[in-house]
Amino acid sequence: MSATDVLALSARAAADAIEAGSLAPRELFDAYRERAAADVSAGEDGLNCFTWVAPEPPTDDAPAPLAGVPLAVKDLFCTAGIPSQAGSRILAGYLPPYTASAVSRLTEAGATLMAKTNQDEFAMGSSNENSAFGAVRNPWDRERVPGGSSGGSAAAVAAGLAPWALGTDTGGSVRQPAALCGIVGLKPTYGAVSRYGMIAFASSLDQAGPLTRDVADAALMLRHMVGRDPCDATSLEFPEAIELPSAERLDGIRLGVPQELTGEGIEAGVLDSFGATLALAQELGAEIQPVHLPHAPHALSAYYVLAPAECSSNLARYDGVRYGYRAPDPKDLLDMYTRTRHDGFGAEVKRRIMLGTYALSAGYYDAYYGRAQRVRTKIAEDFRTAFAAVDFIVTPTAPTVAFRLGEKTAEPLAMYLNDYCTVPMSLAGIPAISIPGGLSEGLPVGFQMAGPAFSENRLLDAAHALEGAIGFDGAATRA
Ligand code: GLN
Repeated sequence: MSATDVLALSARAAADAIEAGSLAPRELFDAYRERAAADVSAGEDGLNCFTWVAPEPPTDDAPAPLAGVPLAVKDLFCTAGIPSQAGSRILAGYLPPYTASAVSRLTEAGATLMAKTNQDEFAMGSSNENSAFGAVRNPWDRERVPGGSSGGSAAAVAAGLAPWALGTDTGGSVRQPAALCGIVGLKPTYGAVSRYGMIAFASSLDQAGPLTRDVADAALMLRHMVGRDPCDATSLEFPEAIELPSAERLDGIRLGVPQELTGEGIEAGVLDSFGATLALAQELGAEIQPVHLPHAPHALSAYYVLAPAECSSNLARYDGVRYGYRAPDPKDLLDMYTRTRHDGFGAEVKRRIMLGTYALSAGYYDAYYGRAQRVRTKIAEDFRTAFAAVDFIVTPTAPTVAFRLGEKTAEPLAMYLNDYCTVPMSLAGIPAISIPGGLSEGLPVGFQMAGPAFSENRLLDAAHALEGAIGFDGAATRA
């Protein structure tokens, strides 16, 4: 097979070709590793997708079913003996003694770890500009952001530097970069995939999810990650096997359009593309109806209390004693703690730690944290009510197409608005997928579909049918 033919294969097609004997795992691995290494060597002229690329091709034949398909993994997944830094200076050079369950399940199924991907520091961000290892560029336009926080994973897949990648989504970090880079991103039901070995941001929200070229690849990756893990008490057995999607029609499927997430604040070009995708869904037999998520407009406010509160607690462990960076020549213990955290954390992480610490402080706990939790419950109830009337809820994934590097870095609140349509599903713990819904101003627009907890098989099937009708072509950025 020529290198061009190899790179044209989806992860699933590549695994099938290896099984059939028409492609050698080594050939596939080398084709991608060369491209990934070239991106690293290109420095400023590259996309800056990777924080580590495997120095050596694997020696053994990888087992079926994933048969050696190379995998890129977000930096915050612990990988034994391989740098796992969560995009932060405070973990620079950290080599964990163990591997995250999501990653080890994939490698046990035969995937080969090829690279670690750049990300916003501790997954806090929507543009990948908060990384201690520099911003990632969007392969559709190098002057624009890839989205965040799994920006390296999304850009690598969109640019054909990896066949597929693993990311994490706390408030949108798989779906939003997938949307901005023109690929598929799935946030599974909370608890479906073990969080063991995922460097924590906000534990009640963090979920691992696939970033892939198409919906079938997302299903294939999910299939090999799900399941109860004794090392994560919040993980659950998935009630059924994850099937590869096959639907081509949407007959009888009711799609709910929440007015609260499809009006004000969404760019006109994004709304046009969203409308065009709805029209296609209707042609496939879907019924479109309005629904209400009355508390959804408060999701962002609740999220930006809860996520910082959890992060302020999770990030207390970075004290210069146990892992990573330690400030040199401290005067005393307190000086060591203070300067380690001062030098080790970036501005956004410090902002969140301060916000979270404040929200959890004795005098304000109930006014902020307690109230945000009550809003979270209301949002989950809104979804339950809506799913009594419709099968899936659909929205644009992000309110805008990819914006320019530096455009929002001075305005944290403008940056937070990117999560307007993705955060409600995170708070409710339900699965949601972003598929490429077309272009606006020559840049990809994401179409988001969300379903009830553990509806992944149905959700993937519906997304697959729609993907076929949309016929989005991402090949241009993989050249
Ligand atoms: N952009 C959101 C934030 O900064 C979501 C991040 C995420 O999902 N990890 O918190």
